[in-house]
Amino acid sequence: MTLRAAVVAVGDELLLGDTINTNAAWLGTELAAVGVEVVVSVMVGDDLPRLAVVLARALEDADVVLVTGGLGSTTDDITREAVAAAAGVPLDRVPVLEGQLRERYAAYGATLTGPVLRQADVPRDATVLPNPVGTAPGLRLEVGERLLYALPGPPHELAAVAAPVLDELRERSGSVLHTRTVHTAGLGEPSVAEIVERTVQVPPGVALAYLAGGGIVRVRFTGPDDALLRPLADSVAAALGDAVWGRDDDRLDEVVHQALAAREATVAVAESLTGGLIGSTLSRMPGSSRTFRGAAVVYATDLKHTLAGVPAPLLAAAGPVAAETASALASGIRERLGATYGLAATGVAGPDEQDGNPVGTVYVAVAGPNETDVRALRLPGDRERIRLLTVTAALDLLRRHVTP
Ligand code: ATP
Repeated sequence: MTLRAAVVAVGDELLLGDTINTNAAWLGTELAAVGVEVVVSVMVGDDLPRLAVVLARALEDADVVLVTGGLGSTTDDITREAVAAAAGVPLDRVPVLEGQLRERYAAYGATLTGPVLRQADVPRDATVLPNPVGTAPGLRLEVGERLLYALPGPPHELAAVAAPVLDELRERSGSVLHTRTVHTAGLGEPSVAEIVERTVQVPPGVALAYLAGGGIVRVRFTGPDDALLRPLADSVAAALGDAVWGRDDDRLDEVVHQALAAREATVAVAESLTGGLIGSTLSRMPGSSRTFRGAAVVYATDLKHTLAGVPAPLLAAAGPVAAETASALASGIRERLGATYGLAATGVAGPDEQDGNPVGTVYVAVAGPNETDVRALRLPGDRERIRLLTVTAALDLLRRHVTP
């Protein structure tokens, strides 16, 4: 039986945009993995009557309702009261929980105030879900045929308290959903979709999705039978050819690192418009010192000569944003930092054009032991987007040179 779930995230800070609702994203992924379909996911402020209405509605819409946040000890934490109201039951103070709270506060030498004791209040007939990493326990309540879980807001507490909940839901749903993902770079979403749809026919029960962002397009197949998904992903990967840089949980920086490590090779970076983002990305992984030598942020034109060794006459003739300059940056930094590969990016992030080059004009280059390769790009978007797309394009160019 497919279980339908509603996710309700509680907190004014979510509505104001101070906190990004990552709990909904996390629950969405985890619930899908245990075969539960999220049919609605909403955010509500710290408003007791409104939350009670939303919960009552969610209990009509879904088999399972998962609430996160608002379980703490301050007066704006209203989830417990709203759950009781939506279920039509009173709150009872549970002496065991009260005792635990008193013990914990005594151990820290803190004074226990009235509102804190509310954490010992539990809707009648609810089960308390232990919170091994915080003070606010979760709650599990059966409301007629429906199941309602109240879970803490801090993401690490949510993960800890939700673990047994997800186990229970996996058992109840009896149908685990699998996913197979193929990651690409260098092709736009329409081109990827065109190749995918020419290559495979998606059988009933399998969902195909394109997830695009930051210069990366992911092709994802989801369905209950992994034996159906694997050949689909394999065919798509074969058809997409060298645009494919990874599968499933792979990350581009990790793929590059591992390919370099397998060759006992290193990389050094000379970057202009990205201001250090390429170096930052290449140093993100633990153990990256094995493959990442360093990066020079050669933002000012003269530094492209003094720090990265671009010959002055070339720089004067071609200018800072040019294919020849990108190649010279890559080979110059490779030599100066003693790396197997030099990687370079120069371009116009905007908002203004530069020396006649329109915004989005970007050159990325790689210099290896035997070859230099440069790509001319016209990237869309604003300054931030152009910088991020440049990072992906540079890493992807290097990837194409270092993966077999
Ligand atoms: P606490 O015992 O810490 O008060 P709580 O269940 O009452 O737990 P909230 O007070 O609602 O949780 O939120 C505590 C913190 O958890 C927030 O300040 C925020 O940093 C994080 N948080 C809450 N909800 C979310 C969410 N939906 N997505 C991401 N982070 C969240």
